Amino acid sequence: MYTGHAMDCVFCKIAAGEIPTTAVYQDRQIYAFADIHPKAPVHILVIPREHISSLAETGAEKRALLGHLLGVAAEIARQKGLAKGYRVVINSGEEGGQTVDHLHLHLMGGRQMTWPPG
Ligand code: AMP
Ligand code: ZN
Repeated sequence: MYTGHAMDCVFCKIAAGEIPTTAVYQDRQIYAFADIHPKAPVHILVIPREHISSLAETGAEKRALLGHLLGVAAEIARQKGLAKGYRVVINSGEEGGQTVDHLHLHLMGGRQMTWPPG
């Protein structure tokens, strides 16, 4: 399987094992690991191994992968014991607050979340 790897992308390097992290979950398409600056007691990032710059860049051909990312987030939440609830966030683009240009889903839990986010 071809997985596009962007040379200067930190999340491509993490998914490829070039920057060491502890995998919370991994399969052929997906890698999940702890956020380096956690904003909640549980803060996991779930990423595709393939370099996709943002949610806005995905088309119909990525729908199965997007569903897989979301399903894996729910599975990790169960494994982490987040039975009282959790939040899943995808920041997309500048106004969406995206700072790393490799699609990632934040799974956050272990505290009361507030609404709306900033
Ligand atoms: P976003 O602002 O949605 O693009 O989220 C990027 C997230 O990646 C932030 O929560 C950062 O703390 C996190 N992050 C950046 N670099 C790393 C890294 N090397 N390892 C783990 N998490 C990282
Ligand atoms: Zn990347």
